Amino acid sequence: MKGSVIYGPRDVRFEELDFPKIIKPTDAVINISATCVCGSDLWPFRGINPITQPTPMGHEYCGIVEEVGSAVTRVKRGQFVIGSFFASDNTCPTCRIGYQSSCQHRELMGGAQAPFLRVPHADGTLVATPEVPPDDMVPSLLTLSDVMGTGWFAAEAAHVQPGKTIVVVGDGAVGLLGVLSAKQMGAERIIAMSRHASRQKLAREFGATDIVTQRGDEGVARIKEMTNGLGADSVLECVGTQESMMQAIHSTRPGGYIGYVGVPHGVELNGQELFFAHVHLHGGPAPVRRYLPDLIGLVLKGKINPGKVFDLTLPLDQVAEGYRAMDERRAIKTLLRP
Ligand SMILES: [Zn+2]
Repeated sequence: MKGSVIYGPRDVRFEELDFPKIIKPTDAVINISATCVCGSDLWPFRGINPITQPTPMGHEYCGIVEEVGSAVTRVKRGQFVIGSFFASDNTCPTCRIGYQSSCQHRELMGGAQAPFLRVPHADGTLVATPEVPPDDMVPSLLTLSDVMGTGWFAAEAAHVQPGKTIVVVGDGAVGLLGVLSAKQMGAERIIAMSRHASRQKLAREFGATDIVTQRGDEGVARIKEMTNGLGADSVLECVGTQESMMQAIHSTRPGGYIGYVGVPHGVELNGQELFFAHVHLHGGPAPVRRYLPDLIGLVLKGKINPGKVFDLTLPLDQVAEGYRAMDERRAIKTLLRP
């Protein structure tokens, strides 16, 4: 089989890979229905994360179970399943309190931009839909593997509640799905910070009530103006740069909450500044496994349609173009079909 492998900055190849096998009795192998390119895949693509050896790419996946190991009891061959970008046993103390992305036996997934994928801890990691879903639901179900669950975690970590004012920093797929999540959680006012027309439009479709195009200090000043000088109750930080993090902290009201899910690159917080900001901070890699059952239900009932973030669909062999389109901001998110 052929899959995507990154060799260096802007060098993603579609090349021959070994067919995945069951290695441990708790593994499963799935036949990928759809996969995609993550915003975080752009860090190595842009040369910001170093690449030390050719690395199979992709950690967002859903598909049909092809084979299970001898110790797998819950997941069955032929089921349509979705899993997280971290495999987790879902039984250790950390999983049981709902932080499966910090599972004591977690394994970071990779190699999902391929026709088949080995999934460790299959019983803990994978959640099956009641039946094989229609093909047009697959994109929305795929988002639950990472991007939608991450937006949901950002909103939950930012303590979004009915009637509150929310700011979303970042108009990538995670930020846009943070808007959708805040809307589902009953936020009254959702301010999306974006300067791109197509992303503003999708933010509005997902429930944004206001758009702020300014960034940095100007963006913060605009948020203050819109909130009687107070700042927002909840801010979702969905980028991971110093500028976006400071924009989030300074846009939050005293006593307010920040959910940060952008993987930090070069972010440093000043203790004094943090002390006087008077805010709650909660973030990290989203425990998307915790949300899978509920979010699958919302998608299957047609309550949410997060698959709208895919504005480019390509056959898997054009994976390199999928990266380029996102890198050049021609696409919000690329869906790949094996
Ligand atoms: Zn665990």
